[in-house]
Amino acid sequence: MDILLVEDEPQLADVVNRALVRAGHVVSRKEDGLSALKAVMNHRFDLVLLDVNLPGIDGFEVLAKIRQAGLTVRVLMLTARSEVGDRVAGLKAGADDYLTKPFAMEELLARVDVLGRRDVSTQVSAILQVGDLRMDISKRRVTRGDEKIEVSPREFDVLQIFMKEPGRAFSRDELCERIWQREHEYDTRTVEIFIMRLRKKLDQPGRESLIRTIRGVGYMLESAP
Ligand code: CA
Repeated sequence: MDILLVEDEPQLADVVNRALVRAGHVVSRKEDGLSALKAVMNHRFDLVLLDVNLPGIDGFEVLAKIRQAGLTVRVLMLTARSEVGDRVAGLKAGADDYLTKPFAMEELLARVDVLGRRDVSTQVSAILQVGDLRMDISKRRVTRGDEKIEVSPREFDVLQIFMKEPGRAFSRDELCERIWQREHEYDTRTVEIFIMRLRKKLDQPGRESLIRTIRGVGYMLESAP
């Protein structure tokens, strides 16, 4: 699994990191709440191991922000506090499981394995993610970072075509055919208007457009924006 380990105690982080890598996982590490949050928004991890007591914003707040952004990544809270209240708070905030410190490494690996098996098939199919751009197909919801982006049904369809194959260039004709399926007459200029509208919504000021124009070909969504 692709795991983000968020733990500010370097010794504990080292031990957990080693155990996870030995068990065949890929591990990224963060030591504070804000950079953890940024990492989760920018990369689709299979699992986040999230310490509660962190510098900056704490684990509960990180978790709340992850869920507010509509991200369904699995989260296992690591807490030094054994009070029932904290466990409940973590689960209510959207954690999938919790582990109280100190814990045995076998226990951690067992929990990680269980979470790895849960809901994998349903989660994968409904979510498309390219960089910090994310699309929940069943909820018809688009987010960039932690910002929700309002798109019309047609804009959603156009964006979905790009997000299914990031890094691939589409001609205007192909986009037309895919969107309107030759139901009625179409004009390739309509595609240009949709691209313009999507760029207005998706792009950040001063940064290159996510949807690039490929001269003589058409359009392409950057695979790593
Ligand atoms: Ca800590």
